Amino acid sequence: MLNDSDHDHQVCRSRAVARAEERCRDEGLRLTEQRRQVLEAMLESHAPVSAYEIMDRIAEKARRPSPISVYRALDFLVAHRFAHRIESRNAFLACIDEHGHASSGPEAPLVFLLCEECGSATEAEPAELGGLLTRIAAAEGFSPSASVLEVRGLCAACRAGGHHHDHSHSHS
Ligand SMILES: [Zn+2]
Ligand SMILES: [Zn+2]
Ligand SMILES: [Zn+2]
Repeated sequence: MLNDSDHDHQVCRSRAVARAEERCRDEGLRLTEQRRQVLEAMLESHAPVSAYEIMDRIAEKARRPSPISVYRALDFLVAHRFAHRIESRNAFLACIDEHGHASSGPEAPLVFLLCEECGSATEAEPAELGGLLTRIAAAEGFSPSASVLEVRGLCAACRAGGHHHDHSHSHS
């Protein structure tokens, strides 16, 4: 698994599933077996995966799902922001951040930091960016329905060259 040596990914993964369960309960959504399976398959690493990779991962442990059922589950997970679509890679990323997306209401902008070296993707919380984008759009008389920014570069682990010496404390 990519970049997952720095933290306890089992904890991170089960926390993400637990949060999805909790939010489904709160919002009256159904996390069906199929949807959960797809979410868990995505959560095997922090790199975005294609629908076919998701099918392969599920097939390692259970019956291979049909493409249509995986796409349906992905539609649900993306629509309710349990996962995000990374357009430039035609891939999907489970949401592991604690920023607590609401599944309804105006969409906050999403920012993804995509590592060109190891393929990992990190979701950033752009608190200030929402207002900025709203002003930019308003100046053009434009009404945005969704904003997703994909930033390419090198992640902290790859910049450190795979060494585990104290990575700069850059998180907010
Ligand atoms: Zn993790
Ligand atoms: Zn998210
Ligand atoms: Zn990297």
